[in-house]
Amino acid sequence: MRDQPFFFRCINQSCRREFEISQKLYQCPVCSDLLDILIEHPTMDVVELKKTFHQRRASNDPLDLSGVWRYREFLPFLKEDLTHVVTLGEGNSPVVEAPRSAEYIGLSRLRVKHLGWNPTGSFKDYGMTVAVTQARKLGSRVVACASTGNTSASMAAFCARANLRAVVFIPEGQIAFGKLSQALDYGARTLQIQGNFDAAMGLVQELSQESELYLMNSINPFRLEGQKTVMIELFDQLNWKIPDRIVVPGGNLGNSSSYGKVLMELKELGFIDKVPRITIIQASGADPLYRTLVTSSRELVPVSDAWTLASAIKIGRPISWKKAVRALDFTDGWCDVVSEGEIADAKAMLGRDGIGCEPASATTVAGLRKLMTLSRSSESEVSVDPDEDVVAILTGHQLKDPEYTINYHLDNLYEHAVYENLLVEKWGKLNSTFANQPIVVPPDKKEIIRLLEL
Ligand SMILES: *Cc1c(COP(=O)(O)O)cnc(C)c1O
Ligand SMILES: [Zn+2]
Repeated sequence: MRDQPFFFRCINQSCRREFEISQKLYQCPVCSDLLDILIEHPTMDVVELKKTFHQRRASNDPLDLSGVWRYREFLPFLKEDLTHVVTLGEGNSPVVEAPRSAEYIGLSRLRVKHLGWNPTGSFKDYGMTVAVTQARKLGSRVVACASTGNTSASMAAFCARANLRAVVFIPEGQIAFGKLSQALDYGARTLQIQGNFDAAMGLVQELSQESELYLMNSINPFRLEGQKTVMIELFDQLNWKIPDRIVVPGGNLGNSSSYGKVLMELKELGFIDKVPRITIIQASGADPLYRTLVTSSRELVPVSDAWTLASAIKIGRPISWKKAVRALDFTDGWCDVVSEGEIADAKAMLGRDGIGCEPASATTVAGLRKLMTLSRSSESEVSVDPDEDVVAILTGHQLKDPEYTINYHLDNLYEHAVYENLLVEKWGKLNSTFANQPIVVPPDKKEIIRLLEL
């Protein structure tokens, strides 16, 4: 008999062993595969619960004000656990129309859900509030992650709120300034490892096995539980009119994995009849999932020297790839890649809609544009209808990486890439189709009037 209606279950079909949720586990202790958290839901009145979700948006209770904890019936916590909740008012990310981007793609309409408009500026807050809450429930005193950016920024903030010690392992010299500044500001102990990301990740993983360090990377299934609420919140915002397609960038593949999981749960419980097709877009220099799928490989095809200027998705060995494959299978989804130039131009197009984002987020618009073009050619299997109801998931805030944006508008991305030691020669010149250069003028009113054609 379990003491709680939640438990870990190994995702490996030939293992499927179950473990108590009160254990500090990241992987199956028997076969080392990934773990899911399963929730034995009591019978739910679907109509009533949808109404409750909606009504909580008008409440001033801190749990209801959170776009994560508002949907707590889908999270692995008992009522009495809720005293541990660590919240910064995360979630509540808006759904915004993007008409210029829609036209650029060839869709009649496009909406974006902008997860970058979170307390620390990325979707990581959706998962971190839940993982840090679990850390507090377990009585952990010190938590850690390896990260080149947004994970460390988010973890540091929630740990500051929870009064937990936070340790960030970063590869020396490979972290964007905006993100590093956040980790320092929130008081995390920041270790610059003299090695690459994989070295940092390996160290923190070993230390979490051998010491009291609680690991906050997305291998921790509590992160993905929190990220499930992105979909529930979206459907709540759309009055449960379910879109045809959800497009999301693919890095470590936590987002796509958690969306797949919650769509299974929502379908099973009768919250939705229809399942939107998950479409994952990777950068062509960091495309392990794409390579795995096109070669029909049963094992991950890693990318040993992954590179892209979209640093948030510069990952060659994504931890959640099996869960992402499951999400694509369940939703009849698709995975594709886009070039650096396509990402850069798509980001600028979103900018013209008044929607700033990180380069990684713009893979969604770039990918949709590519898929529309492919759909028109008869050779391709993919078909995107111009009248489809599509929601693109934007993952990070524009101001995380202002250097990229400025270099784009100065038509300097190529030099920026060379500076970052990227193998740009292989991929050709990066042109900024929509560059918006600043203009140097003398302090002369007449000259300005002439220039602006006023
Ligand atoms: C972490 C991150 C990603 C990658 O998301 P995964 O869930 O790991 O695929 C994409 N964009 C931004 C801005 C991120 O911070
Ligand atoms: Zn197992």
